[in-house]
Amino acid sequence: VGVLKIASRCNLNCTYCYMYNLGDRTYLGQPKVMSDATIDAAVRRCIRHAAETGVETFRFVFHGGEPLLAGREKFGRVVDAALAEGRAAGVRPVFSVQTNGTLLDRGWCELFEDCSISLGVSLDGPERLNDRFRITHQGGGSYAQAVRGYRCAQDHGLRPGLLVVVDPETSPQEAFSHLADLAPRQVDFLLPEANHTRVPPRGSGDTPFADWLLAMFRLWDAAAIPPFGVRLFEQIIAATLGVPQPSDALGQADNEIVVIETDGEIGPVDVLRAAIPGAGRTGFNVHEHDISQAMSHPLLRLYHKANRTLCDMCAVCPINEICGGGYLPHRFGKDGGFDHPSVYCRDLTKLITTIRDATLATLPGDVLKAACLRPLAFRDAERTRALRAAAEG
Ligand code: SF4
Ligand code: SF4
Repeated sequence: VGVLKIASRCNLNCTYCYMYNLGDRTYLGQPKVMSDATIDAAVRRCIRHAAETGVETFRFVFHGGEPLLAGREKFGRVVDAALAEGRAAGVRPVFSVQTNGTLLDRGWCELFEDCSISLGVSLDGPERLNDRFRITHQGGGSYAQAVRGYRCAQDHGLRPGLLVVVDPETSPQEAFSHLADLAPRQVDFLLPEANHTRVPPRGSGDTPFADWLLAMFRLWDAAAIPPFGVRLFEQIIAATLGVPQPSDALGQADNEIVVIETDGEIGPVDVLRAAIPGAGRTGFNVHEHDISQAMSHPLLRLYHKANRTLCDMCAVCPINEICGGGYLPHRFGKDGGFDHPSVYCRDLTKLITTIRDATLATLPGDVLKAACLRPLAFRDAERTRALRAAAEG
């Protein structure tokens, strides 16, 4: 996967934005929009890397800032270049875009349809909830504009996904009804950007994020036909059944994502900048380097193998095959760098064990026995982990 930061600025100013509002200022030194020469070099490097590593399908993700600020011509250039390079190299390019939705109109929807670009829109819930954080540079809400764009895409026959940052202070029931009304193809729930140095906002209770997500899971699971897919739940269920899905937040697969900035710099997932300001600067650039050369950078290497590079606690955790130590940016602390469990460890333990047990409860006893699968309650998982850690010394 190549995440193309095709525009480095945004028409919104979300308070939690890791690009603009968590201390990193890298974007100020970058071109506002990717040049044609950088697009061509980025696409060429990505397709060649895919061909060299035996990858048949390579996904380009249009990202920003707000990618739609780059304009339709830039999108067209990426698609044309990727199709031409892909044909020559025997690699099939596929495309998706992650947008705040506020600039979506008929013209964009036609382009997405013509170029088979799948669409994801970021929206955090009903208007009064979304507009607490997802605001314009003037401080106004963005919900009305974003939903206008989202509905425009739906009217056009597209079926966008939604990206939702979890806020445990809100009502899961209200969020579920809102999502069911919007009828997205799929929902991606994200935990707020946080680590051991910048700790997460905590609602009430011990495990507020798990409690919120589990309330959502119960509503979703109780529906005869779930009104939308939820990637996080589906990944935990699949991993429980022994069919893990690739993800950089769960599981044991390698993370096959590189980010290419508007100036062509090749970096690891940009959220790491929120943990370490300037971490996006690797010194590798599509104009001079192959993707495989950039992969020699320590942070790119670590991110690539993050789900198998576990701290001592994660290494003895009974659910580490499903969890994979959590999303790398969430592990960071001033002491020890990334050598920590996720700052959301307790939430992850509760979420994973509960969904795992709910999944196992649907299987016949002889299947569980044959597969050596046993339920594991949240507290038992924590106790097992603590005992093993103590035994390891
Ligand atoms: S829409 Fe995305 S890139 Fe823009 S400010 Fe909000 S979180 Fe940041
Ligand atoms: S649940 Fe916690 S200890 Fe277990 S793998 Fe995940 S982050 Fe590590």
